[in-house]
Amino acid sequence: MKRTLAIETVEKIGQEVLLQGWVDTRRDHGKITFLDLRDRSGIVQLVLTGSRLVSKQGETPTTEDVIEVTGIVKDRPAAMVNPKIPTGTVEVEVKTLKIISKAKELPFPIDTDGYDINEEIRSKYRYLDIRRPRMTRNLRLHSKMTNFIRNFLIARDFVEVETPILTKTTPEGARDFIVPSRLQKGKFYALPQSPQQYKQLLMVAGLERYFQIARCFRDEDPRRDRAYGEFTQLDLEMSFVTQEDILQLTEELFTTLVKEVFPHKHIAQSPWPRIPHAEVIKAYGTDKPDLRKNKTDPDELAFSWTIDFPLFTAQSKEDFYYGSGKAKFAPSHHMFTAPHPEDIPLLATDPLKVRGLQHDLVLNGFEVGGGSIRIHQQTIQEKIFDLIGFTKEQKAQFDHMLTAFTYGVPPHGGIAPGVDRLLMAVLGEPSIREVMAFPASSSGTTSVMEAPSDAAPEQLRELGITIVPQKK
Ligand code: ASP
Repeated sequence: MKRTLAIETVEKIGQEVLLQGWVDTRRDHGKITFLDLRDRSGIVQLVLTGSRLVSKQGETPTTEDVIEVTGIVKDRPAAMVNPKIPTGTVEVEVKTLKIISKAKELPFPIDTDGYDINEEIRSKYRYLDIRRPRMTRNLRLHSKMTNFIRNFLIARDFVEVETPILTKTTPEGARDFIVPSRLQKGKFYALPQSPQQYKQLLMVAGLERYFQIARCFRDEDPRRDRAYGEFTQLDLEMSFVTQEDILQLTEELFTTLVKEVFPHKHIAQSPWPRIPHAEVIKAYGTDKPDLRKNKTDPDELAFSWTIDFPLFTAQSKEDFYYGSGKAKFAPSHHMFTAPHPEDIPLLATDPLKVRGLQHDLVLNGFEVGGGSIRIHQQTIQEKIFDLIGFTKEQKAQFDHMLTAFTYGVPPHGGIAPGVDRLLMAVLGEPSIREVMAFPASSSGTTSVMEAPSDAAPEQLRELGITIVPQKK
């Protein structure tokens, strides 16, 4: 017999079906026992009587066991109808029962929202935590979102390109993760903080419209809207465009996405307000204002743009990458962002007054994306390197960009909204980890597998690495 899903039982009244799934709940009423069977489509009520309370192996099913049953789908007596679930009008009278695999008692309940359960334990048993309906829903929405984005962009002539994970430093203001090379001992790859340079090189390559659902790696302290280690961006780049084109495309993409994937949410204001940096700071004291009209309404989405950022900020010690924290200026976005054309003369006289062609996407008080029009002139790029205090060696690390720009580079620009961060803000989840399948914990330990861990001595020998014991 072919498997029937829980949700399909409502169309099979009077028929014999075979169901497979987990025991969601068990209710004993003397001679009769009710089990809710859960599969990917939802739950359906099973009715077991007499000898059918035990399996052929002589065991009784308990919650979270994986079972297989055959039985007849029946209408429920009117008084027993449960209007809260889609299969609430039917039940399955079980004929045979098989326990496929037994489940131990779970380390925590999964029928609650789970917010109050210790994070390390949720992370260690993440595969159980994901059984929780809220988590399953979030992962499904994540998938729906990326699927919508792909279809939307491919229909508009964008090309999806994968870029390397083992690469060279791509500074976005965080620390790099580095990976030792076995073939070239003593040398290291860096994991990309974003595909920034590759997407610009793809514009030199003539693709004109690129996107990628890209994994980005940043060694920085976790925050509520930032997971430790890695996260996913919708990275996109276009040639022969103005900032206006990028803002319009992004606005259309997310407006239609909200309608399709989150139909019960409503966007507070369209077109989205565009607020110059100086104004937003003056009015709200932040560059990511929460513009919701009613902050207690969980379904309101207030998108806005912050534009006209200063190209540079005064450099601080945290800007260890640029000029080793000793130069006067650090890029506010990244060093490939183009200065406002009117402000180019100020690069020589008053760099802190130069505006950048940067745009930040803001949703309900979260920065959910950033991008810019890029520099495509070699001389201006070199000037920026000087202003941020790059040494000769640091400049040499970006020679490939300057070289590429000598072979015919189109004007280009783009944006990279964070997929997880956007989903967190749309759903009003309290942390970005609630929308990721296997996020690292805030102490940087990975979910379930508990990396980082020791490497075997042979591995280290092969890489030419000696560990210096750390003083405790
Ligand atoms: N690479 C940038 C970032 O990760 C986004 C962009 O400028 O397109 O923030």
